[in-house]
Formats: sequence, C-alpha cells, structure tokens
Amino acid sequence: MPLSEEWDSVPATTTGTLDHPTQETFESTDPASGAVLGVFPVHDAAAVGEAVTRARAAAEQWAALGFAGRRTRLAAYRGHLARHVHELADLVHRENGKPHADALLEITLAVDHLAWAGAHARRTLGPRRVNPGLLAANHAASLEYQPLGVVGVIGPWNYPVFTPMGSIAYALAAGNAVVFKPSEFTPAVGSWLAEAWRAAVPELPDVLQVVTGSGGTGAALCRAGVGKLAFTGSAATGRKVMAACAETLTPVLMECGGKDAMIVDDDADVVAAAGAAVWGGMSNAGQTCIGIERVYATSAVYDRFVAEVTRQVADLRPGSDEQATYGPMTMASQTDVVRRHLDDARAAGGRVATGGTVEGGYVAPTVLVDVPETSTAVTEETFGPTLTIARVADAEEGLRRANATSLGLSSVFSGSTAKAVDLARRMRSGMTSINSVLTFASVPALPFGGVGDSGFGRIHGADGLREFTRAKAITRQRFPLPVDLMSFRRPAAAADTLARVMGVVHGRHR
Ligand code: NDP
Repeated sequence: MPLSEEWDSVPATTTGTLDHPTQETFESTDPASGAVLGVFPVHDAAAVGEAVTRARAAAEQWAALGFAGRRTRLAAYRGHLARHVHELADLVHRENGKPHADALLEITLAVDHLAWAGAHARRTLGPRRVNPGLLAANHAASLEYQPLGVVGVIGPWNYPVFTPMGSIAYALAAGNAVVFKPSEFTPAVGSWLAEAWRAAVPELPDVLQVVTGSGGTGAALCRAGVGKLAFTGSAATGRKVMAACAETLTPVLMECGGKDAMIVDDDADVVAAAGAAVWGGMSNAGQTCIGIERVYATSAVYDRFVAEVTRQVADLRPGSDEQATYGPMTMASQTDVVRRHLDDARAAGGRVATGGTVEGGYVAPTVLVDVPETSTAVTEETFGPTLTIARVADAEEGLRRANATSLGLSSVFSGSTAKAVDLARRMRSGMTSINSVLTFASVPALPFGGVGDSGFGRIHGADGLREFTRAKAITRQRFPLPVDLMSFRRPAAAADTLARVMGVVHGRHR
C-alpha cells in the first residue's frame, strides 16, 4: 500500500492497540514538505500504565516460550521487516527526511541485530554450570540470566528504526516484553514497527507495544513500573529520565549524545580519511550520535586533508529528491543549534572553509577550521552536517584534545602504523573504528555504548543481551560434608582449622 494512503488516513485513535487512548492527539509531519503524515494519540499516564500491564501478562507467555520459541518468532519478525523493507524505508524517508537508500541501510542493520540477538540468546543467557570453588565443593553451582519482565524503551528520531531496535531486539531475545515510546517526530515509524510485530507474531501482540506522545508520555513510562528503562537521546533528557526512574528505583540504560572525534595521523590515507570524515559527519544531515563532529589532523597531513574534505564536500547536495545526498534537519529547531554553533565559531575566530549557510530546514555541508577548542562548535553536540578540523602537532596531541570532552561515545583513528590500536584503546570513548567510521555499529557481536555524558550500559552483542536480564545464581548441595561450617552445630575448632587452610592456600602470596 502506498504510504501516503496508509498514513494519511490514520485516524487519531486507532494507532496502537490500547483500549483507552486519550482524546489529545498530535501530528507527525514530513520535514521536507510539512505535509501531515499521520495523527497519533498522546498516551497519558493511565494509557501507558495499561500498556505496561498488558505487556506484563504478555511477558510471562513470551518468557515461557524459551529461547527456541522466541528465536522462531523473532525470525518471523525480521522476515516481515525484510519483506517490507522498501515500505518502511519510504516511511522513514518521509518522516525523518533521510534519503531512501540511507533508510534501507539503517533497516538492514536493525534486521541483522535481530538475527544475532535471536541466535545468541541461549548461548549468552542460558543456564550454565560454574566451578563451585573450594568452600562449596560439595555443591553444584549454576548461573543463568533471567528476563526483567517489561522493558520500557524511549527512542530518538535520528535513526528511528536502528536505534530503538538496538534495545528492542536484545530485550525481546532476552525474554522481555517491550513498551516503546518513539520520538514525537517519528511516531509513524514506531507504530509501524509495532504493527509489523502484530502481523508477524499475531498470537502475542502485546509483547511489543508502542505508546505515542511527547516528553510527558516518556516520563509516564519511566514511572510505570517497568523492569528497566532503556533511553536513547540527549544527555539533558537522560538526566530527567534518570530522575524519574529514581522515584521507583527503576534501573536505566543511557545511550546519550556524542561529540565524536577523529584523529588523522601522519601516515593516514588522506583521501580515505577525508571520505570517512565526510560520510561520518554529514550523512543523515549530521544527525548521528556516533557521527564525526571534530577532526584533529597532524601538521604533516592537515593542509592536504582540509583540501580533500573541501573537495569531497563540494559533491554533496542536501535535498529531499532521489539524488540528494542528505535531507533536511528532522527537527526544525535543530537548525537553531547549528546556527548558534556556527556563529560562536566565527565570533571566536574560526573560519568557514566551505558551507556555513542554513536555508529553511537545510544546512549546507560545512567545514570549519581554526576554531578554538572552547567554542561551542567544539564542546557541544552540534547534530548537523558540520565538521571542525584542527591542526595538531602529532597524534598524541590529537588524542589529548579528542579526550578533553565530557562526552565519549565513539571515535575514529586514521593511520596505518602499529600505534593505531594503542591510540584507539586510549581514546576515551565506548567504541573506536580504525580507518573507517561507524563500523562497530554494524558488528552485532560488539557492544555499543558510551562513557561520561554519553551514557552507560550497553546494547548489542552479549553485553547487550545481558543488559536486559538479571543474573540468577543457584547452588544445589550434592552431598553433605561431615563438618558444616554454616551451622550452629559446627565444632568449636572448625573455624580455626579453616583459618589454617586459608593460611596455607593464600598466605604465601606477598
Ligand atoms: P531527546 O533527548 O530530545 O529525546 C529522546 C527521547 O526522550 C524522545 O522520545 C523524547 O520524546 C523523550 N523525552 C523527552 N523528554 C522526556 C522526559 N522528560 N521523560 C522521558 N522521555 C522524554 O533526543 P532527540 O530525540 O532529540 O535525539 C537526539 C539525541 O539522541 C542526540 O543527542 C543524539 O546524540 C542522541 N542519540 C544517541 C544515540 C546513542 O546510541 N547513544 C543514538 C541516537 C541518538 P519527544 O521526542 O516526544 O520529546
């Protein structure tokens, strides 16, 4: 069905499966044309509570299916996404503004994560025996990771499929039901994902539900008694989410913003490094949490690098047609942030090497040089198609400057020498790519997450599966010992004997 027909006709109260959506509604619009894509209910605290109650019941059935049963159904879900990939990509294009091809890439990555999570859940989380150790040698000891019940997911608009799916796929594979609150800028994509679930797994429709609305709906989800709240968004909102979750001691996963840096070393392939910086900084109109915003190029390559980036950027053209390289800013107000950073950079003595204009919702691809490190263009997340490029004496100075930020999501090192891995390890970020950008996000086995103001906790990989579980420890006595140390009936000398054994086993270590 053409999406225009599908979503233009969405009545205000039929999105989702809740019985009592409130009367209040909001519109989702195409950022390129302003056309209304759909009208969605603002779910209030009562409606969110109802969704969580239904999810709790569904979670029991979902958990009871076991790893194999869930894997089959997760496969059906990803099969549905794969078969309808163009329909979903078109919706992402229309609601978020990014080119159709970029939407396809985002969805493909999400499907890959669904496959990995489903296939690796048993091995990562299933029961396993562990060594009981000396003191409990007469016991069998086992560990397993159990689901939390209902996981609340709050997502942003910049990657409206890939980003929430990083939490949803892993939470589902771990045996939880999910209530997902998409950004108010991408409710149609969020609702589509829940509808796809109901189509693929009709016997358990409440395992993945969507509630729509703005910050208030998200805040209600924080207070609804979920087992964990997985938040992706800005650090500022993350603080509010944590505060709301603290009221009920609800644990949180925080995936927040970045100000990601790239170091270009003396021996880097300058053309390839420039290509990576341009793609990492400007694809998706720069609205990428793990996108490159700051580059530190050594003196040996600086001039060539700036020239090459400027040359490559000249080929980019923002727009909403099929040939456009990136789209409009999804959220009109984001252009104000970009403008503020550009003004600040200029006022501080920075020079615009190319771009620097904002027309309507479109920001020209912009390269800034000679920007002081204290400018907001360097210190704050810009979230636009802009790059600052600074000259550094060597990679060590680049590393120092790259690390001098409260944010620490991802980073890039470009250079082919043996020191690349050493520098990558010392970059203060959750993820580093060497000689490419964003690659770690496409490796499902690797954990994804930040340090500092970029958040804590991990999605993706085995860590991402465990993030949505609680570790359960079980011991089983296999046979009684003649002397039970944990008993009021133990002989008086038993503890002294134990101390002597401890002295023999551990006392020799100095
Ligand atoms: P926001 O922080 O503005 O919003 C994120 C989500 O939180 C939205 O769904 C929003 O709803 C909701 N929200 C807003 N206020 C509250 C509240 N008081 N309580 C609960 N929920 C609330 O981020 P954006 O949507 O603007 O997304 C961009 C940000 O996300 C950037 O900083 C980017 O770096 C970051 N990001 C991080 C990623 C990561 O993996 N680390 C990945 C992708 C993006 P609504 O939109 O309806 O207001």
